[in-house]
Amino acid sequence: MSAETPATATPRYRRLVLKISGEGFVHAGERGIAMDAVAHIAQQTGRAAQLGVQIAIVLGGGNILRGAQFTAGNAAIHEATAHYMGMLATLMNGLALQDALELQGFQTRLLTAIRMDGVAEPYISRRAKRHLEKGRIILLAAGTGSPFVTTDTAAAQRALELDADVLLKATRVDGVFSDDPEKNPHAVLYSELAYDDVRRQNLRVMDHEAITKCMQYDMPIRVFNFKKEGNIERAVRGEKIGTLISRTVAGVH
Ligand code: UDP
Repeated sequence: MSAETPATATPRYRRLVLKISGEGFVHAGERGIAMDAVAHIAQQTGRAAQLGVQIAIVLGGGNILRGAQFTAGNAAIHEATAHYMGMLATLMNGLALQDALELQGFQTRLLTAIRMDGVAEPYISRRAKRHLEKGRIILLAAGTGSPFVTTDTAAAQRALELDADVLLKATRVDGVFSDDPEKNPHAVLYSELAYDDVRRQNLRVMDHEAITKCMQYDMPIRVFNFKKEGNIERAVRGEKIGTLISRTVAGVH
């Protein structure tokens, strides 16, 4: 990392995976990429990286396209093809965020699970770890490289293979609620949840595969609102914002 400003407090984590969904790259209700939104994420993640934590960002692509929009039966595009289109969308976000971070003086590498020589390095976990050790922020695009899953599964997968201490899932709501907070004003925000609670109550946090993988290997997940200024930095510091999903018993704020 080349930008200055020393770390101010000892961060709790050594290495983490930060999942940023496509909605971070655009204004609410819009589609495509808004460069001011990208610059804002870059500022927030850049400040977090200055704490001295190794950061791997898994990019979402829903601001451009989600494969599940093209359900089976739509004759024009096979659903699997649409999933590949969704994975390519994450590369566009990655290119945008890479430039925004480098403009701020950070060293980055964009790695892709679908080969695209000329714009990004192929994802190789050993190489990814080496970049992290050298203080580079790595941007992981194209999800898992396989269709029919989401970038949440990719984030879980990468968190495990990169030996991350935590998976931080940045969303536009404050954490995990008992119901959809945008529809039900009485929805309760959980501060902690056990993996099993998420699965049993069918809470819409991440896809089933992602939660199951994290549960299987005991990877903690923190879900938090990145639209609130400074929250990425707080989450990276290990502050108790949003909802922590681990082996603990459920509680409420
Ligand atoms: N996708 C996929 N395989 C993966 C990751 C993503 O097929 O490993 C496709 C899937 O169609 C997904 C789209 O890429 O909907 C964009 O990713 P996602 O929906 O996870 O983006 P986000 O909701 O985080 O913005």
